[in-house]
Amino acid sequence: MAYVITEACIGTKDASCVDACPVDCIHSTDADEQYYIDPDTCIDCGACEPVCPVNAIYAESDVPDELKHYIQKNADYYKK
Ligand code: SF4
Ligand code: SF4
Repeated sequence: MAYVITEACIGTKDASCVDACPVDCIHSTDADEQYYIDPDTCIDCGACEPVCPVNAIYAESDVPDELKHYIQKNADYYKK
């Protein structure tokens, strides 16, 4: 299990979640459209979820059906 960043981050990318994460597993670059969580490093603490101003972050088990492809999208970011 891990937390997942979804579509709402696109266009916001304010990095509030990065500061909240105790294990530094949320990353992006200027060229990327959103931030992504590394599922292998995330410890499921939930600290990032409430600080997101656009509610883009979900526990993997709570990701709405229409956003489920973001689970793979976050994982794939770290396989590059
Ligand atoms: S759930 Fe915790 S460890 Fe995982 S990305 Fe969010 S703040 Fe980081
Ligand atoms: S806090 Fe939300 S909008 Fe800001 S970078 Fe993190 S996921 Fe994206």
